Amino acid sequence: MDQGILMVGADNRVLVHNQKARDLLGVSEGLLHEGARFDLLQQHQIDRGEFRKVNGELRHLLESAALGTAAVTYERERPNGTSIEVRSVPLPTGGLVRTFTDITERRRREAALRLAEAEYQTLFQNAVVGVYRANLDGTLVRANQALAKLHGYGDSACATAPGTGFTHDWYVDGDRTHAFMRLLLTHGRVDDFVSEVTGHATGRPIWVSETAWLVRDAEGCPSCFEGTVVDATERKRAEAQIEHMARHDALTGLPNRRQFQERLTQELVHAQRQGTAVAVLCCDLDRFKTVNDTFGHPAGDALLCTLADRMRRSLQPGDIVARLGGDEFAIILLGRSHPHGVGAAAQRLIEVVGEPVDIDGHLTNVGVSIGVAIGLDDGDRADLLFKNADIALYRAKEAGRHTCRFYEAGMDMAVASRNLLEIDLKDTVRNGGFALHYQPIIDLASDTVRGFEALLRWPHAAKGMISPADFIPLAEETGLIVELGAWALRDACQEAASWPSDLRVGVNVSAVQIQHIDFHQHVLDALVRSGLAPERLELEITESVLVKDAERVIACLHRLRRIGVRLAIDDFGTGYSSLSYLCQFPFDKIKIDRSFIQDACASTSGAIVRAVVGLGKHLGATITAEGVETQAQLDWVRREGCSEVQGFIFGKPMPPSVIKGMMRPVGVGHDQQPERTHCPVSCERRSLLDA
Ligand code: C2E
Ligand code: CA
Ligand code: CA
Repeated sequence: MDQGILMVGADNRVLVHNQKARDLLGVSEGLLHEGARFDLLQQHQIDRGEFRKVNGELRHLLESAALGTAAVTYERERPNGTSIEVRSVPLPTGGLVRTFTDITERRRREAALRLAEAEYQTLFQNAVVGVYRANLDGTLVRANQALAKLHGYGDSACATAPGTGFTHDWYVDGDRTHAFMRLLLTHGRVDDFVSEVTGHATGRPIWVSETAWLVRDAEGCPSCFEGTVVDATERKRAEAQIEHMARHDALTGLPNRRQFQERLTQELVHAQRQGTAVAVLCCDLDRFKTVNDTFGHPAGDALLCTLADRMRRSLQPGDIVARLGGDEFAIILLGRSHPHGVGAAAQRLIEVVGEPVDIDGHLTNVGVSIGVAIGLDDGDRADLLFKNADIALYRAKEAGRHTCRFYEAGMDMAVASRNLLEIDLKDTVRNGGFALHYQPIIDLASDTVRGFEALLRWPHAAKGMISPADFIPLAEETGLIVELGAWALRDACQEAASWPSDLRVGVNVSAVQIQHIDFHQHVLDALVRSGLAPERLELEITESVLVKDAERVIACLHRLRRIGVRLAIDDFGTGYSSLSYLCQFPFDKIKIDRSFIQDACASTSGAIVRAVVGLGKHLGATITAEGVETQAQLDWVRREGCSEVQGFIFGKPMPPSVIKGMMRPVGVGHDQQPERTHCPVSCERRSLLDA
C-alpha cells in the first residue's frame, strides 16, 4: 500500500500495521509490532519530540495523547521535514483505524506554485507596460496598474470594475477594433498595433501600441486574449513631426522641394484627367545675396520669412508656394490656364516682393524674377514642366530683373549653352548626381598609402563625364559651389569614416566656398554626421583664398585647425604672394603643383621644388609632390626630399568601391582595423595601376 495503516483494538494493542506505517512514523519494529501497546508507542513519540514542529492546539492534543479514538483528520510536519496526513476513524467495537499519507511532495509543489504566483503577481503589477487579459468580446478580465494608469485610472481594480467602460473596445472607430480582432483570430497574434484610444478617463485621446496573442483552451478553441500596451502618443507626435520636417522647409514652414515635386506630379495627373491646366512659376530673388552678406544671416532669414509670407498671401487659396532652397521659390497655380490670369498673378508677386522691408531699422528691398511654364502645353511631366519654367526664369533674368517671362518653344535653344549647363548644374546639385573619386597619396618614408584625395566627378547623361575643371568655375560663379562643396565634404567624410583609422581624406575647398559665412558650420556638420576624427580630414585650399578677404578667412582656418582639422595649400607655386601668406598661416601640408613636377628636368623647376622643400621643413609642413607619372619623376622627388607623392604612377582617381576593394586584400577592411595600414607601394602599385 502507498499509505501507512495501523489498526488498534479495544484493548489498546496493535492489531494490524504495515511497513509503510513504520516508515512514515519513523519507528522500529521493536516498538511497532502486532500486540504492541499503542499508548507506549504514543508516549515514545512524545518523548522523542515527534510533534515539536506542530503548532497550536493540535500540538497540545498530540503531546497529551488526548485525541483518544476520536475521528480526526489532520496534517503535521515531522521533525525530519516530511509532511504526513493522518486520518483516524474509531471502530464500532472500540479501538481505531489510522492511515498515514506522505504529502510532502504535494505540499512542496503547492508552496512552489504559491511562490510563483506571488512572483508573477509582482511582475504583472509592477510592469511598466500595460498588461491585460480580455474575453473575446473585449471585456477585460484582468489589467495591471500600468494599464490603468495609461488610461487615466488610479488603480487596476477600479479600472476593471464593471461600469467604467474600460474594455478592450477602446478604439475610435469600429473598423479598427474589427481589424484588430480579425488579425488576432487569423494569425493568433497582433504585433505593434497602433491606434488612437478614446476611452481615457480624462477624455483626452491617446495613442497606444499593442501586442496581443490569442489564448486557447484545452480543445484548441480561442478562449480569450492577452496583450501588452504601451503609450505611443509621443512616438506618434515625433513621427508626425519628422513627416512634417521631411516635407516642409524648416525656416519658412512652406512646402519644400520634395513636397513641391509630389504635388506637381499629382496636379498634372489631375489636370490630364480633368482637362484643366497647371501653371508653374519659378521664382528667384534678386539682390538677396547682397542683403544677406550686408546684414548677416539672421537678417537674411527674417527677410526670407517675410517674403514667403507675402507671396503666400498674394495667391489664391489652394495655390502652392514652396521654398526650394536658398532664395529660390516655386509656385503651382491651379486651374488657371489663361496666360493673362497667370501673368496677373506673377505681376502681383513681383509687386508684393518688391515692397520695402524693414531690416534692423534699414529699409531695403529685393526683387523677384519669375519664369512661367503652363502644363500640359509646356510639359506633361513634373520635371520637364519645372525645367521649362526654369529656362523661362533665365530669360526673365536676362531681360533685366523684376520681370516675368513665359516659356516658349525653342527658348532652350536661345538660352546660351553656358546657361543650359548652369541649369543642368543647378539641377544636379539639387537632386544629386555627382560622385567623388579617390586618388591615393603615398608616404615616401614608409612606402604606404597615407590617404586619398576626394575629386569631384559629374557623370552627365548626354555629355558623358564632365571634368571638374569645366564645371567648378561655373559652380563658383553661380554660388552653387557652396552647396556642392558642402555635399562633397559630407560625402568624403562619410566615406573616409569607413576606412581604416590611419587613412586621411583630402577634400578640395574653393575660395568662394571658404568665404561663405556657413563654411565653418559645413565642416562641423560633415564631421559630426560621419563621426570622422577631425585629424583625418585635410582641407585643400589654393593660395588665391588668402588674397581676398584674407583676415576673415585666416580666422576661420584657425578655428578649424583648433579642432584638429588639417590644412593643405594646394597647387603651390601657381598663385601669387605665396611665400608671404605661407608665413601668416601655419599649413600642415604644401602640395607642389604638378607643372613643376612634370617639368622636372627644367632647372628652374628643380630650384623651386628644392626651395619649397626647404621652406616646408622649416615650417614643419609635409611636402606632397602632385602629378608624378613616371619612375624618373618619382626618383627625382624622392631625392629632392618630398615627403609624399600623388600621381598616376600610383593610381588615378577611382570610385570608392574600387579603393575599398583594394584595402581588403591587405587586411585593412574596416571590420578588422589594424593600427597602421600597410599598403606597401611595391605590391600595391600594381593593383592601383591595374585598377
Ligand atoms: P587638384 O586639386 O589639383 O587635383 C588634382 C588633379 O590632378 C586631379 O584632376 C587629378 O586627377 C589630377 N592628377 C592627379 N595625378 C595626376 C597625374 O599624375 N597626371 C596628371 N596629368 N594629372 C593628375 P581632376 O580630378 O580633374 O580635378 C581637377 C581640379 O578640380 C582639382 O585639381 C581641383 O582643383 C578641382 N576639384 C576637384 N574636386 C573638387 C572639389 O570637390 N571641390 C573643389 N572646390 N574643387 C575640386
Ligand atoms: Ca587638390
Ligand atoms: Ca593640386
